[in-house]
Amino acid sequence: MSNTQTAAPPPAPKREEMKGASGQGGLTLEELKEKMANFAKERDWDKFHSPRNLLLALVGEVGELSEIFQWKGEVPRGLPDWEEQEKLHLGEELSDVLLYLVRLSDICGIDLSKAALRKIELNAIKYPISLCNQKHNQIKTSPETAPVATTAAADAATSATSNDNGGV
Ligand SMILES: [Mg+2]
Repeated sequence: MSNTQTAAPPPAPKREEMKGASGQGGLTLEELKEKMANFAKERDWDKFHSPRNLLLALVGEVGELSEIFQWKGEVPRGLPDWEEQEKLHLGEELSDVLLYLVRLSDICGIDLSKAALRKIELNAIKYPISLCNQKHNQIKTSPETAPVATTAAADAATSATSNDNGGV
């Protein structure tokens, strides 16, 4: 190659070609956090990644995710009637939300794994299985009793969280 020639950059991969491109599965939140931190550092984007900026970016991505479902009405689980391309797009927007959430947590110094596990435990206290089953049974057998069951659930939730502020 002569000095006057410059190598053309490789063409950007097409969206279809990137399907499953990473070949990686089962990443932990910690690994995602590190990948996002490296991604930002390599591009000198740390200066833009303030908590507020990341939160607004996250909200924007939630909007893009919502747009996919907008006007479709209720859709069945597994999205059996969706085109493969739609599902690919859905995966991209879900990922955008997750990645900004992980990055925001990191920048705020929150251990998202620990926080999420703690929240599940708090929710288990707030919504005990026995009470939830009782509520569902009452709704199934007698729709008129649903308001009573709802009140009981609310009472349980109130007593469970009165000492800890662990509400959803
Ligand atoms: Mg997006």
